[in-house]
Amino acid sequence: MDDIEPKDIDPHALTRFAKEQALRLGFSLAGISTADPPPHLDAYRGWLSQARHGEMAYLARADAVERREDPRRILPECRSILVLAWPYEPPSPPATRGRIAAYARGPDYHDVLLDRIGPWVSAMEARLGRSFPFRAYTDTGPLLERELAQRAGLGWIGKNTCLIHPRRGSYFLLAEILLSLALVPDPPFGADRCGSCTRCLDACPTDCILPDRTLDARRCISYLTIEHRGRIPVELRESIGDWLFGCDVCQQVCPWNIRFAERAAVPSASVELDMADILSLDDDEIRRRTKGTALRRTGRAGLVRNAAMVAANTGAHDLVPALARRLKGDPDPTVRQHAAWALGRLGGIDSQRALRESLEAEADPAVSQEIERALT
Ligand code: SF4
Ligand code: SF4
Repeated sequence: MDDIEPKDIDPHALTRFAKEQALRLGFSLAGISTADPPPHLDAYRGWLSQARHGEMAYLARADAVERREDPRRILPECRSILVLAWPYEPPSPPATRGRIAAYARGPDYHDVLLDRIGPWVSAMEARLGRSFPFRAYTDTGPLLERELAQRAGLGWIGKNTCLIHPRRGSYFLLAEILLSLALVPDPPFGADRCGSCTRCLDACPTDCILPDRTLDARRCISYLTIEHRGRIPVELRESIGDWLFGCDVCQQVCPWNIRFAERAAVPSASVELDMADILSLDDDEIRRRTKGTALRRTGRAGLVRNAAMVAANTGAHDLVPALARRLKGDPDPTVRQHAAWALGRLGGIDSQRALRESLEAEADPAVSQEIERALT
């Protein structure tokens, strides 16, 4: 293939420029990976074959798996990949009732990150004096992004499956730009600095971290409260604790976050929503308050379902009237099921009355079953 960079631009200088521009735009780390196929695709295929991805069917689609096998299936001209880390504020003690994962407390990171790709591309085009083919992704692209980040020298994949940087921990999101430019690759991060530590495995509330550095997503609170649609298995509801959206536990206990991570320079706006709001507000108001945030991903019904579980798990007896209203009037059967479960767990005369009254009126057999279980 012919070189597509002008002959008078030194690849090392262009690589330096590419990274400097990324850091100037607020990314905290920038590394270059080769465009070769990722090394651990077999492990990924094995994870899928054991259905550990839960309902995230888009991960298992044949075309998506094939594209993950080789970045050049996404961008045929791909010659290098710029991998970027975007820092977010570490979790702080919740000021509201019910916790939201730290990354989701600000504006939707998809928008924030992708908004910065345009200026980066413009700077590169100005430097090169021409445009060039590229594809940019964050989180949802058909890429094994942590593997690419490790190969770009940004850190190692910890036992908690997060990418960990030795001085910045893991409180950052990743973005990748597949480039037709031959930038100079960084040496891969070779070390595994987890050593004999098992803190994340010990602390995970649902024991879903597997020994091969993958997760059984079907049991992970992040998956259950965000990606999973519908009823959450009864045996997992208690372990969700006070998590309304996502979970930070396996990052909070990690020594690389506790001792070494630098704080994010970029302050994140706080989402103003707690479980009482979610259970009490009408749909329009919930939509208004979640606009432009990652909380939109789980949908209105998912948020209310999660809030009902958190209310039960935190003994929020003051929310019995709000739960009773959801049980009687919410159009979504999943919400009614979880409201029934929460009322059963909270107990008391008012809960029992709401459950009995709703049982008479309920037309959905699955919800009726849940109400009967709650009454007994
Ligand atoms: Fe476990 Fe929470 Fe980490 Fe999921 S996000 S692996 S539930 S600690
Ligand atoms: Fe690795 Fe320990 Fe951090 Fe888990 S908590 S990712 S084992 S260093």
